[in-house]
Amino acid sequence: MAIHEVTYYQAKCDGCGRIEDDYGEYTAFGTPGCVVDMMWDSDWSVTDDKMFCEDCRPPVDEEDDYDVHGDVDE
Ligand SMILES: [Zn+2]
Repeated sequence: MAIHEVTYYQAKCDGCGRIEDDYGEYTAFGTPGCVVDMMWDSDWSVTDDKMFCEDCRPPVDEEDDYDVHGDVDE
């Protein structure tokens, strides 16, 4: 049958394990990098190797404390 199985990616919280499946008009992305880019614009906390949902994100005085944007490779 001419149907090809593909893998998609979703953000998963390193704290509670919650998986985000609501990205506006999408439910998943074709590359991990796209997920990371999307989560940067969300309420989640994203670091080099971790993601935390808005319930688990570490408390910080200033948002810039964990802003490590710029080193995300796919
Ligand atoms: Zn969480």
